[in-house]
Amino acid sequence: MSHLNSQIDASVNTAQDEIVSFIQTLVQSPSLANDEGQVQSIILDKLESLGLAAEKVPIRFDELKDHPAFCDDGFSSDSRVNVVGQWNHDGDGKSLILNGHVDVVPTGPEELWDESPWSGSIKNNRIYGRGSCDMKAGLASGIFAIQILQNIGFKPNGNVMVQSVVGEESGGCGTLTNIVKGLNENPPVLEWFEGQFESGQTDTKHPIIQSLSECYFQSTGDTSIIEGVTYGSDLRLFTNHAHIPAVLFGPGDVRLAHAANEYVEIEEVLLTIKIIANLIVDWCGETIEK
Ligand SMILES: [Zn+2]
Repeated sequence: MSHLNSQIDASVNTAQDEIVSFIQTLVQSPSLANDEGQVQSIILDKLESLGLAAEKVPIRFDELKDHPAFCDDGFSSDSRVNVVGQWNHDGDGKSLILNGHVDVVPTGPEELWDESPWSGSIKNNRIYGRGSCDMKAGLASGIFAIQILQNIGFKPNGNVMVQSVVGEESGGCGTLTNIVKGLNENPPVLEWFEGQFESGQTDTKHPIIQSLSECYFQSTGDTSIIEGVTYGSDLRLFTNHAHIPAVLFGPGDVRLAHAANEYVEIEEVLLTIKIIANLIVDWCGETIEK
């Protein structure tokens, strides 16, 4: 393990309580479609606390309606915003987008849940609640990867962009807004699952997938399994409509994503943060401030 790698490991382990508490706060902020405002404000505050140039990006259906991938999810768009944060450095390294969604699917009958779907409670080293697995823990993992790298004095040579989007579960109006507004420039995308729309794909030999596989191996000692999935996701918007290679990666079991008693394993979250932090180092290149 390299020095940087072990520093990342130690720093993530030290921050465990803070990481878990942040994810609990996200889960405790119900964010069904069209009601994502509160959780996006929490994300914005967090990105600003890390010194990122962060902003709310309004969703406007009238700006999207002529796009071939536009899907009107029937909700008012007037109050919905994405949050975008940039960790900018003027190096010649490659850039990366960390994209995740904050909207969650309905809870279904609450009597099927052992506790409130919005409890965010901890049991057996898991965080429970709607959106824990799909995908507030995944979004938080990208944000904490940045925080951890800052803690150890790392600056990327390229730019890292966090995109916290709405509308993934209902057609992708959030990510499509970022594409239509040209917020993506050219970096590859790391994001997460799912939905039921057109398919998209990235060549498994693409350097971003190779780099992610190497970082996975470094942190786990296991060879990663790279596979296509049957569910749809915002990935298709990047690959098909912005011509940006993208890969889905994150903590949690996809079978729990829309289920009662949804949860995410804390160990998987910590591991994901370590892997994403190492990916940023490997992909963007490093500048260590002494
Ligand atoms: Zn979902």
